[in-house]
Amino acid sequence: MALVAEVERLGRRVDALRVVLAGEVADRSRPNRGARGLAVSRGCRTPADLIEQLTQVSGTTARRRVVLAGDVRRDSFPGGDRTEARFDLVAQAVEDGTIGIDAATVITKGLTSLLAHGSLDELGKAKTELVAAATGTGPDSTVPVSADSVRVMVCVWQAKLDPDGLDPAEDRSMAVRDFRFGPERNGLLHGSFRLMAEAGGRVKTLFDAYLTPTTAPAFMTEEERATAEAEGGKDSRTPAQQRHDIFVAIIDAMARSGQAPTIGGAAPTVLVSVRAEDLASGQGAGWSDRVEGPVSMRTVRQMVCTGGIQKVVLSQEGRIVRLGSPERCFTPPQRRAISLRDGGCIIPGCTIPAGWCEIHHVIPDKDGGPTHPDNGVLLCWFHHRTIDTSEWQIRMRHGVPEVKPPPWIEYFGTWRPATKSRTRLLDRLDAPPE
Ligand SMILES: [Zn+2]
Repeated sequence: MALVAEVERLGRRVDALRVVLAGEVADRSRPNRGARGLAVSRGCRTPADLIEQLTQVSGTTARRRVVLAGDVRRDSFPGGDRTEARFDLVAQAVEDGTIGIDAATVITKGLTSLLAHGSLDELGKAKTELVAAATGTGPDSTVPVSADSVRVMVCVWQAKLDPDGLDPAEDRSMAVRDFRFGPERNGLLHGSFRLMAEAGGRVKTLFDAYLTPTTAPAFMTEEERATAEAEGGKDSRTPAQQRHDIFVAIIDAMARSGQAPTIGGAAPTVLVSVRAEDLASGQGAGWSDRVEGPVSMRTVRQMVCTGGIQKVVLSQEGRIVRLGSPERCFTPPQRRAISLRDGGCIIPGCTIPAGWCEIHHVIPDKDGGPTHPDNGVLLCWFHHRTIDTSEWQIRMRHGVPEVKPPPWIEYFGTWRPATKSRTRLLDRLDAPPE
């Protein structure tokens, strides 16, 4: 540990030199030098480009050095006199190697944004405090804090010195908020989003609430964690994968809620077409109009299991000769009844609520399983998708779902009734002892 800290201290010394040299390159590439400018004469557009070429660092790193140099370098004028740097304290700390490039950049950027607001006194105070915190030299801060903590302090100063600045800043983020769907590659739809901070906070809170207990960032006692792990086994998914699954569940629930706008008179439904013989054999692929690539038969089966199917018979030439009505589709009342009975995804340890679950045919339709509440159980999207491979077993006993954990959780697993319905749990409490 001592070595890690020591090497970092050395690195900061080297970093200081890097910044000085970046400043030198920028200085010798000043626009007023025209074609004699250093960067231009070497065929580079900007000083950062030249540094990137000389050092093979990323463009971001090179630009960061140049920008920081502009703030902390003591400018030399043709006359030779060196003037004070814009941020003398920061400059000194960088030079002494007591503050890294990360923290220095955070401070100079933050203070620059404050220049137009606070009085000189206040700005000076902010500068002194931030540098003191970052270098651990303040009256009440003898331990240097990380660049991230300095960033938080900068935010606090911004809010103090420029309380009105928050509105324009928010207006700016309002203008650039977005949610984009990108290209579909390798079976994944890519995309990006920029959420308003408070909207993002809400999304995070919602997601966190439904992460399984073993990965949720909640404060659990060791005992609670152990119980959660014993009940459901450790979730093999990363938190990021779980967030994906939660997102899918939320969207499904929304589409089903009856409050979603209709498309052509029907609730927004994703249609997948597949040839009957492919579905029967489990080979081949399905196609969906909103998905470019083929959809695997496993996905098609999951969608049929939860969403039903409608048969269309085409003639050789392609004419529709018979149109079946939707089948294997649990009706809303059936769904409500099953939700009441199961209360949520029936896999122990899973936290997805009933409204976000899919209904799984315990005995598949192809084996004669009926679309009846006695044969339907709630599973979240993920547990439904992986039910054939996860080794969780489900059976119905007198119309009551029971689950048996896979051998890697419990070697000689036993069947146990599964419900998360509070109504039913209450019922059990009231039941006379056996
Ligand atoms: Zn689940």
